[in-house]
Formats: sequence, structure tokens, C-alpha cells
Amino acid sequence: MHRTIDIEALCAEKGLRITEQRKVIARVLSESEDHPDVETLHQRAAAVDPGISIATVYRTLRLFEDAGILERHDFGDGRARYEAMSESHHDHLIDVESGKVIEFVDDEIEALQRKIAEKLGFRLVDHRMELYGVALDRKA
Ligand SMILES: [Zn+2]
Repeated sequence: MHRTIDIEALCAEKGLRITEQRKVIARVLSESEDHPDVETLHQRAAAVDPGISIATVYRTLRLFEDAGILERHDFGDGRARYEAMSESHHDHLIDVESGKVIEFVDDEIEALQRKIAEKLGFRLVDHRMELYGVALDRKA
């Protein structure tokens, strides 16, 4: 849905040494639209290069996170989930039963948040919003 940034290009820009394995992990992350956890990212990276260990994935994610090129989410199930930093803002709705993550943008909510911040004497620079729900049409 959203265009993600080019992680490889950003690594170069930030002076991060980009090894072949990091390149694979960066690509897997850029191509994932489902907010994968570490295990899933490792599976996908290892499918490309079986030499990539889960420790390498952890280290690389930490590196990317510190460089501000990926976002780590906690959607309440105790597993950290990752996505490449997006060029455009979006919020998340999490299906608490399936764990599925749906992305959305709502202009009214965005405007309302700015208004609240202003009322409190602030200019809004960032926010995170997570909605947690149960699908209405789920069969019992
Ligand atoms: Zn997202």
C-alpha cells in the first residue's frame, strides 16, 4: 500500500557498511508489507542466503533501527514487528484474533490530532496510533 524508502540507498547515505547479508535483509524488509517479526524476516532472508543466521538478522535490525531507517512496532502480542520507514504516514489496526495488521490513513483523525496538540500549545511533529479490534464478520 505505501511506498517504502530504499533501505540500501539510505544505508549508503548514513555511512553504514552494507554487506551482502545486510543487503539481503534490507531487500526482504523493503519487500515485506505484512509487518513481519524477526523469525519471519529470518526465514525470508535465509531463503535467499542460507548463510544468514538469526543473530545476524537481530544485529542488522538493531543497526537499521538505530539509523532510523526502519520502524519497530509492538502490537501487543509481545513480538517486535518491523517495517521499512515509509515515505508517507499511516496508522495501524490490529486484528487481535488473527494478528493481521491493516494500514490506514484518515484525514479527520490526522486533523483532530493536530488540533488537540495545538490546543495544548504544541505543534504536532509525530504520532503513533494503533487500533485493536475483532472482525465483525468472523464466524463463531
Ligand atoms: Zn505499517
